[in-house]
Amino acid sequence: MPVPRCSGPCAGVRPAALRRPRTGRAVCRSCFCSAFEAEVLSTLQTGRLLPPGAVVAVGASGGKDSTVLAHVLRTLNSRHKLDLHLHLVAVDEGIGGYRDAALAAVRRQAARWQLPLTVVAYADLFGGWTMDEVARRAAQEPGRARACCTFCGVLRRRALEEGAQRVRATHVVTGHNADDMAETVLMNFLRGDAARLARGGTLGSPGEGGALPRCRPLQFASQKEIVLYAHFQELDYFSEECVYAPEAFRGHVRDLLKALEAARPSVVLDLVHSAERLALAPAARPPPPGACTRCGALASRSLCQACALLDGLNRGRPRLAIGKGRKGLGEEGQGETRASRDRGRPTMAGAIHAF
Ligand code: SF4
Repeated sequence: MPVPRCSGPCAGVRPAALRRPRTGRAVCRSCFCSAFEAEVLSTLQTGRLLPPGAVVAVGASGGKDSTVLAHVLRTLNSRHKLDLHLHLVAVDEGIGGYRDAALAAVRRQAARWQLPLTVVAYADLFGGWTMDEVARRAAQEPGRARACCTFCGVLRRRALEEGAQRVRATHVVTGHNADDMAETVLMNFLRGDAARLARGGTLGSPGEGGALPRCRPLQFASQKEIVLYAHFQELDYFSEECVYAPEAFRGHVRDLLKALEAARPSVVLDLVHSAERLALAPAARPPPPGACTRCGALASRSLCQACALLDGLNRGRPRLAIGKGRKGLGEEGQGETRASRDRGRPTMAGAIHAF
């Protein structure tokens, strides 16, 4: 079968290299990458996410999403003179045999792109607790799954905020993509978390309670297109799976989403857009959050999720912080890493519909 010509802006000058999963159009590599970058720029501009002069902490895990995010932001910043000051912030959770290799990828990216890099470690921030230690402690509670990603997600969100504050960032960006967002919407439905469901569809959080504003510039980009973009740009990223990822509840939700996608290909973006339009009826709205009595972070109880979790760990009962009595801390925190979100995700071979 002859290779079709590109139907993008080059108007058939080049042969098509792929069929865009998002639109079904056959396009060449160059037109695809330009369109992808233009769509991220549109997300930034439509949502007014990053004002000129912003110091932007880019959550960098070494995985493909944060790698693509940093690369696209850097490209757009220079091409469109956005006046953004980008700073990579990486979190070392203390996961033996996994995180060191991922951090090595982040260091290579920082050197290649000449971006400043700050690494913050759980062990330093959380009184010596590493994720491996947390997992060991959680395993000692009989008859329960360890739910490592639940703990890790909460601590990670705090660690990224801390790293961003240290570099005097004004904004935080993360590499969450459309598939992540659709999974999160489904997870919130499945656990009946109406409050999180109602606020989960926005492009980010405005930065209440002293926290920095956060946003997700890749929120409308599909996982497949991110893989394709990384491939065409020859980006160097880390793609191994975290040892704790197979335990994540998110994996079940992903399987469900895949089955739904087979019947309705637009389901991922449909879910993302549905979440944007959801609003809680006044009577169902939770009371406005206050400040954690220990650290001052935003909290719906006297202690924020991270302080409650650390309290539970130090008392030998980590589950106390995420048990049924503590509504609001879901099966997995919102900050879990690329590794848990990547389970079962397309690899390069599965993502490309190449000619
Ligand atoms: Fe943490 Fe991600 Fe590993 Fe879960 S998969 S424990 S969130 S690094």
